[in-house]
Amino acid sequence: MTRGTNLPAIGGYNRSVVLDAVRRERAGLSRTEIAARTGLSPQAVTNVSRRLLEAGLIRESGTVISGPGKPRTMLQLEARGRYAVGVHVDPAVVTYVLLDLEGSVVAHTRTPTPSASDPDDVVGLVARTVDALVAGSGVDRARLLGVGIASPGPIDVEGGVVLDPPMLPLWRHVTLRRSLSAATGLPVLLEKDVTAAAVAELWFRDGAASGTRGDFAFVYYGTGFGMGLVLGREVLRGASANAGDSGHITVDHEGRRCTCGRVGCVGELVTPHALSRQAVEAGVLGPGDVDEAVLAAALADSDPVDLHLIEEALVALAAKARAGEAGALGVLRGAASHLARAVVVVVNLLDLDEVVFGGPFWEVIAPYVLAELPDEVRSSEALVARHPIAIVTSSIGEDVAAVGAACLVLDHAFSPRPSALLISA
Ligand SMILES: [Zn+2]
Repeated sequence: MTRGTNLPAIGGYNRSVVLDAVRRERAGLSRTEIAARTGLSPQAVTNVSRRLLEAGLIRESGTVISGPGKPRTMLQLEARGRYAVGVHVDPAVVTYVLLDLEGSVVAHTRTPTPSASDPDDVVGLVARTVDALVAGSGVDRARLLGVGIASPGPIDVEGGVVLDPPMLPLWRHVTLRRSLSAATGLPVLLEKDVTAAAVAELWFRDGAASGTRGDFAFVYYGTGFGMGLVLGREVLRGASANAGDSGHITVDHEGRRCTCGRVGCVGELVTPHALSRQAVEAGVLGPGDVDEAVLAAALADSDPVDLHLIEEALVALAAKARAGEAGALGVLRGAASHLARAVVVVVNLLDLDEVVFGGPFWEVIAPYVLAELPDEVRSSEALVARHPIAIVTSSIGEDVAAVGAACLVLDHAFSPRPSALLISA
């Protein structure tokens, strides 16, 4: 699948190869070094560099003297040469970021997801907010490479369609990519949120240093629970770009009945809604702690619920845990135990040595879950691996899916390999 390689402005295999080499070396590279690293001829590097300089994608950054011969001019990425927008559509909140070519966030904003969840409303709001974000940043619109959208799955990546995500009940077969492209006049690509999060993590590692590990699972803790998978430094998308659905991994022999008809599914046990419900049912959270509306949302039988209320409940639960309250610690210990069992299944399956946690609600529960989860994984009778397993929090923060969506656009610009990303211009 190489359709959609019409993402503008970079163009051409050699230009991508040179740009990619330059961006990986913050201090810059000389033309000779670029030739050595890319295998391109010195003449080709000279030609490509000239075009990239003219396009404002790289700049000359002084000279260095190394050995005999004339001083070498260094070439560096022009971080402000191009930009990418990332949008994460969550059932509760839409997050927007504007990234420069180095992946630095230069502007950021959030809007509540329209309560009607009507797709047309959402597309209109997203388009207006993207316009305002770009205008407010002072960035020349002509320098935008495109917009990446991270959406809850399942998605039809070829058609750019959001199918029928849980918790967005009015979202059925929404042609998000085409609608947003029409509304913004920009190329748009669509990716599942957990995959976008994994892309962000991978992108920043690539930029930071070579030699970092190339395999990991990204446990995305948002409204729901899912995983993004990276193997051999490539994000695993699967046959329909919906890889990583892991909510139905069985981690207990009891609990509420899942939508799949069974009990003990991790997705039913660890989400913010599930933990809020457990806290209320156990008497950990009561009328003295949070509003009636929060209690009602926590006890609601099915989604969608008001996620702002759920977030309030989760924050209140974490506050009680911080104060050392046994009941609150018990609920979060349960979450750690359930998450650990799901992690062991995936670690076994792929023989991973690293699991990264992140997502919008992760920071709230991370201190308590991370106090238990690594030991639970290590001491699990079910764990096959004998090597250490690093369990870490992503450095990218709660906007990780939006950042990842923008990184997808950048990745497409840099990537010298044929991309499976599908772009609508
Ligand atoms: Zn299930």
